[in-house]
Amino acid sequence: MYTSITGYPRIGAERELKFASEKYFRGDISRKDLEKTATNLRAGAWKKMYEAGVDFIPSNDFSFYDGMLDTATLLNVVPQRYRALGLEPLDEYFSMARGYQGDRGDVKALAMKKWFNTNYHYMVPEIDDNTKIFLMGDKPFREYKEAKNLGIETKPVVIGPYTFLKLARFLGKKTEKDFAADTANAYVSLLSELSDLGTHWLQLDEPCLVFDMTKEDTELFTSLYERIFSKTYRTKVLLETYFGDVRDCYKEITSLPFSGIGLDFVEGDKTLELVKTNGFPKDKILFAGIVNGKNIWKNNYQKTLSLLEEIAPYCGETAINTSCSLLHVPVTVKNETRLPLEYLDRFAFAEEKITELEELKSIAEAENREKIPAYRNNVKLFGSPRSGADDEKVRAAVKAIKESDCTRLPAFAEREKIQKERFGLPLFPTTTIGSFPQTADVKTERAKLRKGEITEEEYEKFTEKKIAECVELQESLGLDVLVHGEYERNDMVEYFGERLKGFLFTEKAWVQSYGTRCVKPPIVWGDVSREKPMTVKWSVYAQSLTTKPMKGMLTGPVTILNWSFPREDISVRESTLQIALAIRAEVLDLEKNGIRVIQIDEAALREKLPLRKCDWFRNYLDWAIPAFRLVHSGVKPETQIHTHMCYSEFTDIIKAIDDMDADVITFEASRSDLLILDSLKENNFKTEVGPGVYDIHSPRVPSKEEIVTALEKMVEKLPKEKLWVNPDCGLKTRERAETEASLANMTKAALELRAKYSD
Ligand code: GLN
Ligand code: ZN
Repeated sequence: MYTSITGYPRIGAERELKFASEKYFRGDISRKDLEKTATNLRAGAWKKMYEAGVDFIPSNDFSFYDGMLDTATLLNVVPQRYRALGLEPLDEYFSMARGYQGDRGDVKALAMKKWFNTNYHYMVPEIDDNTKIFLMGDKPFREYKEAKNLGIETKPVVIGPYTFLKLARFLGKKTEKDFAADTANAYVSLLSELSDLGTHWLQLDEPCLVFDMTKEDTELFTSLYERIFSKTYRTKVLLETYFGDVRDCYKEITSLPFSGIGLDFVEGDKTLELVKTNGFPKDKILFAGIVNGKNIWKNNYQKTLSLLEEIAPYCGETAINTSCSLLHVPVTVKNETRLPLEYLDRFAFAEEKITELEELKSIAEAENREKIPAYRNNVKLFGSPRSGADDEKVRAAVKAIKESDCTRLPAFAEREKIQKERFGLPLFPTTTIGSFPQTADVKTERAKLRKGEITEEEYEKFTEKKIAECVELQESLGLDVLVHGEYERNDMVEYFGERLKGFLFTEKAWVQSYGTRCVKPPIVWGDVSREKPMTVKWSVYAQSLTTKPMKGMLTGPVTILNWSFPREDISVRESTLQIALAIRAEVLDLEKNGIRVIQIDEAALREKLPLRKCDWFRNYLDWAIPAFRLVHSGVKPETQIHTHMCYSEFTDIIKAIDDMDADVITFEASRSDLLILDSLKENNFKTEVGPGVYDIHSPRVPSKEEIVTALEKMVEKLPKEKLWVNPDCGLKTRERAETEASLANMTKAALELRAKYSD
């Protein structure tokens, strides 16, 4: 039995890579300094794995920005506009990742997309008809040699040709198929060169195999690898898959001459069944992904060992593997100083997972596992309750939820009438998504409070002052439905997590989200409940300053859960329902305290949609949508419920979105050419809609005219009585001046349309 790691975090336990890169971007350190930081981080990771005894240690999993982008440069997929800048290779690379603005030109970055169902983002390679794909770079060789010089044999990791082509964007007439031969040939060169170096193994990551595959997809995959294997190599190939099972191509992959295949037993619902029904070729090593690479909980050894025993009869040799790259978990528990040991004892971040792999291997190989302390401790740990995790009252409350609790009455149409009357809003009512610019003073004040330099009261006074200014600004702009500005929040999930019972917070548990941006997700430790109101004070204060409706502002249960590390002892569904009950209590408290409009953000609802379509309704929307409805079903008909989503790619789940049964939904639309409007129309979307009229991700101030144009397009497609006017998303990241100018143009545009369409 072997041990293997699919990939390791790159950012460093103290986010060294982030800070060095940002210094480099600012020109504060040299390229050499940045490279030195990178070399040290790589060496540190390799040594950890090597000293622990890991058999398959990854290299080339390091990246200055993103692995897809690395693969694009490796394969010469560099759009001309970046090449034309004539920069040094590393700077050219960064220009693709971040855009370039300087004396050599002005180019935007490549598009960025979410990496499967994680919170990591990759850069989307662009291929046009003139792109020539061949092996151009040498990063895998350089990093392999770097490790070799330390006396460590590694397996270079490269994104496989199939996944690379499937995730790339084709700008011209040519498609994946037209590039298949050249792409395969590039991997032939890669393998030949690695063979010359004496590299034992190459890992090719093909996560796209866990999606639903068409016949053409399977053919593309097979043709790529048949071409690659038309030659033989000294270097063996490990085909690595993760984030699900490979039910659509199991036969194909097991009949190709891979020397190892990585299967995900954590997220792959059907993986075990596939192995049992079809067997696994005895001449290949099965890299069994059984240590969760996406979550922070310790592995349950008893469970894992019985799984290993279950698969043993079907395969030859096995390697105990992580279920995916450890990129998606923080580096180490060691640097957490604030959480008590009884909590920390339950966690395994990347470094601790190395130990788990080694322990699992020695326990699996032992004659009598009961004699091994690591095993006994693990069994004991899982047999004992987690301190403060269980709350019978919460469990019972979730059990008692009835279908009728998830239904708001009266039905939408009737509520719409009642609310039109109550609020008397004009046609094309204007609003914003919630947050206003988090200027330096806001962050400074929050930091001061954290450090104990100011009192709670002083902080409160400051926040009230900000809210008052914000309300005044909105009044002077003539907005119709106001917000308080969210100055008290650093983050829309953390804020609630910190106030709900059942969540834990770490100090250093950062995970790379994209490039140098890292996030620190809260941990759902136990049953979740609300102890006291979380937002009422701010909303009530804000409402006291104006006669216009003030929106209460909450984050929805699905988003709170999706942006946290979930529990593994109860289902995601159950945790979400617990959070839903807590947020429901907050909704009712807001209503009781005179708040007439309440927005419940579900920014992350779309992003956790299962990778396979057949699971969308059965395994996700079937509980996520009712959980949302549970949050607001208790309010009076005249209370208006808004929701917000950060994207508009919900064409294929549009019915489910309508089924959330909010009164108003605002979403991002300005960047997607308003394509969503057609499907809203086709589906007779009942919910009132505010498709964002301008992009808040850029400092650009939209003109009144372009907003009018956007609105006219909306009026063409949707009943004007259902339209709201608002920006794309919260204004938190913007500056004050551009925000005021943009909102002023937005309200002017709304006025113009109002005049034109009122009869
Ligand atoms: N209400 C939040 C805000 O305005 C929504 C943020 C989001 O959708 N990401 O900041
Ligand atoms: Zn948003």
